[in-house]
Amino acid sequence: MEVKLPPPPPLKTDPAQDKTGAVGVAVARLEDLVNWGRSYSIWPLLFGLACCAIEQISAGMSRFDIARFGSEVFRASPRQADLLIVSGRVSNKMVPVIKRLYDQMSEPKWVIAMGDCASCGGPFNNYAIIQGVDKILPVDVYVPGCPPRPEALFYALRMLQEKIKAQEKLGNREE
Ligand code: SF4
Repeated sequence: MEVKLPPPPPLKTDPAQDKTGAVGVAVARLEDLVNWGRSYSIWPLLFGLACCAIEQISAGMSRFDIARFGSEVFRASPRQADLLIVSGRVSNKMVPVIKRLYDQMSEPKWVIAMGDCASCGGPFNNYAIIQGVDKILPVDVYVPGCPPRPEALFYALRMLQEKIKAQEKLGNREE
């Protein structure tokens, strides 16, 4: 015997709610909310060392548009920046300068090693260049390439955003 099911009731929607996008009540941990805000407002220091810096500068131009990731505010003062992008080879003479800039940045702060030179010395295996900026600073993300394109820097930025969102505690960066 064939059983006929009644038709499903029509969906009741409130057109006014559809327009406002109201979702009712949402709950979240304070850490998650702060990390979410931090991850989409990373301000890099206005700083470059060598040829990789040209690609870093390109990333800020309208063609590549780093503003899509919330990081267009390159700060000229380390006290207003929370991301140090080391773009280029690090000479021994620059080590104290880079360390001082990093120390002047406020916590929490992060470091991206952009390019082969910053990551491991690149083609400069000699006495004048240190073989990776991680010898003097804690690096969060490494970007390979000589030079890496702006898209590679954006990928690193996305990885850093995920790392920030996963931080368990507020305050200083987690090593
Ligand atoms: S990785 Fe290549 S492009 Fe970047 S600073 Fe070194 S030599 Fe220049």
